[in-house]
Amino acid sequence: MPKASKAERTKLFIDGRWVESASKHVRPVVNPATESTIAESPDAAPADVDKAVAAAKKAFDDGRWSRKSPGERSAALLKLASLIERDALSLAKLESDNAGKPMKLARDGDIPFAIDNLRFFAGAARHLEGLAAAEYASGYTSLIRREPVGVVGLIAPWNYPFMMSVWKAAPALAAGNTIILKPSELTPLTTLALARLVQESGIPDGVVNVLTGAEETGRSITQHRDVAMISFTGDTSTGRKIVGQTAATLKRCHMELGGKAPFLVFDDADLDAAVQGAVVAGFVNCGQDCTAATRILVQAKSYKRFETAFLTQVAKLKTGDPKHPDTDMGPLISAEQRDRVEGFLKRAAGAKILAGGGRLKSAKRGFFFQPTVVGSAPLDSEIMRKEVFGPVVCLQTFKDEDDAVRIANDVEYGLASSVWTSNVQRAMRVSAALQFGTVWVNDHLPLTSETPHGGVKQSGFGKDLSLYALHDYTTVKHVMLELSGAARKPWHYTAFGKP
Ligand code: NAD
Repeated sequence: MPKASKAERTKLFIDGRWVESASKHVRPVVNPATESTIAESPDAAPADVDKAVAAAKKAFDDGRWSRKSPGERSAALLKLASLIERDALSLAKLESDNAGKPMKLARDGDIPFAIDNLRFFAGAARHLEGLAAAEYASGYTSLIRREPVGVVGLIAPWNYPFMMSVWKAAPALAAGNTIILKPSELTPLTTLALARLVQESGIPDGVVNVLTGAEETGRSITQHRDVAMISFTGDTSTGRKIVGQTAATLKRCHMELGGKAPFLVFDDADLDAAVQGAVVAGFVNCGQDCTAATRILVQAKSYKRFETAFLTQVAKLKTGDPKHPDTDMGPLISAEQRDRVEGFLKRAAGAKILAGGGRLKSAKRGFFFQPTVVGSAPLDSEIMRKEVFGPVVCLQTFKDEDDAVRIANDVEYGLASSVWTSNVQRAMRVSAALQFGTVWVNDHLPLTSETPHGGVKQSGFGKDLSLYALHDYTTVKHVMLELSGAARKPWHYTAFGKP
């Protein structure tokens, strides 16, 4: 692997300061398009986790953030959003270098969405609703308070590093929590850049702490007794481990896990639009997207026409240098991920490779992979059922509406899905029957800060985006006030017939 001449050694961001890790273990941060080392970052040790949690707990307990008014928290988050906007281009470039993401996706997609998300939650912080305070028992007033949970551990994946960090940090901070944010060990750089902007924004010390590291660091955060909640985005198998790791301290968990999205095309659909939609939804971010349309199911009569048009469009995708303005697909994130994707294709017995199927031969360096289309894979085969997380799309057919819904639902995941039809009644029936957290009708992928995103089944629980996410980072407290103030027997004496 080629080495850059001077790779910056990153630090940890704890209590508003940049500090060295107590750990000796440092790992290279690699540009997946060039395989060069662009930085080195330490794996935070348990002692670092202790320090960061202590700082976050102090910042929570003394109320320097949680007891600010919603308007003050909102102003601080808006300032942070403006600083991100100021640095948007350099953040997009850093994200592209670290994640191999096409520059146009980082610049026009991830970073602007993160800014919008922060602004949305800055506004939402001022609009937490609940039951009205009222006299639900005679002689008493009840108040329902939504309060922050405490210190929240946020653990992010590598596919949208900056955006995922902001999707987690924004609602957690808006609600008044303090946070320990751990990016993926593969893509820490833009989250560290976010910490620098937090420092500049004037958000009080200790409110935001960023620790780099991998599984061991993540485990220490999830098992820490002073961390009240874990919000995790990543693989379903890691999610299962984390739920186990948090059991002893009984933490609240928020789990955004894997997916295997069906994309249902009925005979009455606009086929050209469906083909265009499938190309984008199948191969965006090199298929490393939890909502990627990986199971394209087309009604039998239209199948051949769809397949031909789809393969024509896939052949036009440009894979290569993420910095080139025409590039549609960059590399996979790592050599391991490339091996993993290859493994799925090797094991796909009975399937036909209709396009791609291997590494990009023209690339001398980088973890590039061809956009790949698989046909005729048995419905119960691994490649039809498990998340590949690469540029691999399976095509299959269905007979009728019942068949489409049955096949679509017959996976362990339940994150995202889409239905393509010109029949409104069918769109309503099918979207109600699909067991997924999101159903798009005649599109696949769009998300907004206002609309909830999250899965069912093995895709997890809890929502990112929207007011639902803000609620997920709060806890509900009931305060009940006795109104008379007079000397009297407590309520339960009279209610239970005691003297
Ligand atoms: P991953 O599960 O390998 O790692 C995610 C994070 O967890 C990393 O920061 C990693 O260091 C940390 N980690 C690993 N083991 C841990 C442990 N035992 N305890 C605590 N932390 C641990 O996932 P990934 O490969 O980085 O990301 C890809 C996955 O993320 C895919 O499955 C994808 O579908 C999923 N994803 C889901 C959503 C969603 O919204 N549902 C969004 C993006 C990505």
